Amino acid sequence: MSDNNYDCIVVGAGPAGLGAGLYAARDRQKTLLLEKFYPGGQINNTDRIENYPGYKNISGTDLVMKMLDQVQSFGGEVKTSGEAKSLVRREDGLIEVSTAKETFISKVVILAPGSSYRPLGVPGEDEFRQAGAGVSYCGTCDAPFFKDKVVVAVGGGNTAVEDTLHLVKYAKKVYMVHRRQEFRATPVLVEELMDYVNRPDSNLELKLDSVVTSIEGEDKVEKAVLENVKTEAAEEITCDGVFIFVGMIPNTGFLKDFVGLTEHGFIQCDPAYLRTEVPGVFVAGDCRIGAAMQLVTAVADGVNAAMWMKHYLRDPNWWNEPLSEALSPAEW
Ligand SMILES: Cc1cc2nc3c(=O)[nH]c(=O)nc-3n(C[C@H](O)[C@H](O)[C@H](O)COP(=O)(O)OP(=O)(O)OC[C@H]3O[C@@H](n4cnc5c(N)ncnc54)[C@H](O)[C@@H]3O)c2cc1C
Repeated sequence: MSDNNYDCIVVGAGPAGLGAGLYAARDRQKTLLLEKFYPGGQINNTDRIENYPGYKNISGTDLVMKMLDQVQSFGGEVKTSGEAKSLVRREDGLIEVSTAKETFISKVVILAPGSSYRPLGVPGEDEFRQAGAGVSYCGTCDAPFFKDKVVVAVGGGNTAVEDTLHLVKYAKKVYMVHRRQEFRATPVLVEELMDYVNRPDSNLELKLDSVVTSIEGEDKVEKAVLENVKTEAAEEITCDGVFIFVGMIPNTGFLKDFVGLTEHGFIQCDPAYLRTEVPGVFVAGDCRIGAAMQLVTAVADGVNAAMWMKHYLRDPNWWNEPLSEALSPAEW
């Protein structure tokens, strides 16, 4: 077998990819994780994880280092700066995965490319996105750069609330802009947010029923222009930065001619065995339909895909079997 031949290639070394890599490598499958940047994915962007079993509180980078070490200790290879650009299933059933420089061949591929930050799409956003110019998508990463400054945070989901509560630890004042009255975030986070807002000395102010319509300044952010969606009244907020927390888009552009995607780009699969429409190609984590968008579920997806992989390796015809009682746990 040449060096570039594998039993299992995992595309993406975020939590889903690392979960898959651990189980595949520990099962003595020759396993390669291809990672576009560096391992860990989105979870690198949080310094406080309280919902990963076994840890009351751990930072994303600490958890990633432990996961990576575990994968490598069982022989899993991790290639950083290894962005998968294209995939092809050959007639012999093997799958070719190509980066800009190399082509790898594998019996099985587990797709785990995760998601990326969704842009707001307003004037000024791209211009000030450059480091230091004042637009950011990651409060955990960039909050310290805004110590004693005034910032605007946009969004109403879990990330928006969590990162805004991180920003208030550094910024002098934070305006949180949300297009509705109700937050999409989980009740426990909303409760924490409202407790903070209602403190007598709070440096956090909510701007509800409002959207940011532009981000303005000379060389860096100097103000955000808001519009109230009910009254259409405009308001200018003088600020040093705008943090955008409005969701994620799946990193699946490179797969559009290879596997079935939803109109929003999530990878289609059968939800039990995580099989895509291409035999031998599984999916795991935030990039798939029905993903819970959580660390633990992403890891579990990776583990599931690596477990179901064994059925395919034993008998490729398994791919076309419908969900079956024969695979109930009692039959294992
Ligand atoms: C700020 C923040 C805080 C969070 N906090 C929590 C929390 O406390 N608890 C929790 O449960 N969840 C949390 N989450 C969500 C959690 O991080 C995600 O659900 C989880 O990371 C998803 O894992 P994933 O492996 O599917 O995708 P990702 O984490 O997105 O990882 C995908 C990886 O694939 C790589 N990749 C993409 N395209 C390619 C390609 N073509 N070739 C090779 N590699 C590629 C990416 O670089 C990335 O490393 C948080 C998310 C954020 C952003």
